[in-house]
Amino acid sequence: MKTDNVHPTLQKIQELPKAELHMHLEGSLEPEMLFALAKRNKIQLPYQTVSDIHKAYRFSHLQAFLDLYYQGMSVLLQEQDYYELAQGYLKKAHQDHVQHVELFLDPQAHLSRGVSLSSVFKGIDQAIQQAQQAYGMTVSIIVCFLRHLSQKEALEAFEQLMPYRDQFIGIGLDSSELGHPPRQFKELFALARTEKLRLVAHAGEEGPASYVWEALDILGVERIDHGNAIHTDPVLIQRIVKDQIPLTMCPLSNKALNVVPDLKNHPARDLMNQGVKVTINSDDPAYFGGYLNQNYWALAKALALTHAELETLARHSIEARFDAR
Ligand SMILES: [Zn+2]
Repeated sequence: MKTDNVHPTLQKIQELPKAELHMHLEGSLEPEMLFALAKRNKIQLPYQTVSDIHKAYRFSHLQAFLDLYYQGMSVLLQEQDYYELAQGYLKKAHQDHVQHVELFLDPQAHLSRGVSLSSVFKGIDQAIQQAQQAYGMTVSIIVCFLRHLSQKEALEAFEQLMPYRDQFIGIGLDSSELGHPPRQFKELFALARTEKLRLVAHAGEEGPASYVWEALDILGVERIDHGNAIHTDPVLIQRIVKDQIPLTMCPLSNKALNVVPDLKNHPARDLMNQGVKVTINSDDPAYFGGYLNQNYWALAKALALTHAELETLARHSIEARFDAR
């Protein structure tokens, strides 16, 4: 959809075929849908209007965001809710010319509210099947474990997930990073490896570079989600370049949570120049102000990225994807 008043760089971003590898499905819950689902499911929200929710979606650090994020997902109860949520995101991804998606999902945050995994997976799967047919995109699910809970709880959830093993391709680790180092989930990741699941983990967002080392050396992850902290550790950068470990970076999230308050200081280009396979993603787009192309655009403006650099970022995302199911 070429129009005269679209900036050439934004047009370029739109046209590039891309993969999105770091997007939490629950983080695509727009205020309008949150409000509608609360009404349908008769859930009491501390907001009177959609605009109250928009106002509440302003926070300054990871924990403040997470508190809202878990409150928001309380409106997700029925299979139909999960279907509508996934359908809404996949449509937006298609509009951004995304060709492959690996959706993050937090099963523990649904199980803890008494929602059945069957409802969760059935709803999402229906949306995925439709998107695959209508848009020709490939979509997989990666289930993430909440690091603010214990490994014991993660292992219990893992067992509950096993009947749905064919619904997801990998596991990840997310939620509050500081004080919850990757090493605490060693057994979980070892078990997932025996199930031939792909392995990723959030590390080095608010946490230090040592968490990235742990994710690589103790958990054996194949991609690092965020990984901003590696720019403080030249030896770690060398390791990540040598092993071609992709980073799934999220500019608008970094800005919203004050990980990188001014995107002019974002390490993405510098890391890319050192040979790191950097990819751009939207993390929790409903909360952080934009879907995938808006993340490319924000970074392109802040760092004056060239079209060639944007092509490299998009190519990295396709190269860093796991096989679709
Ligand atoms: Zn994330």
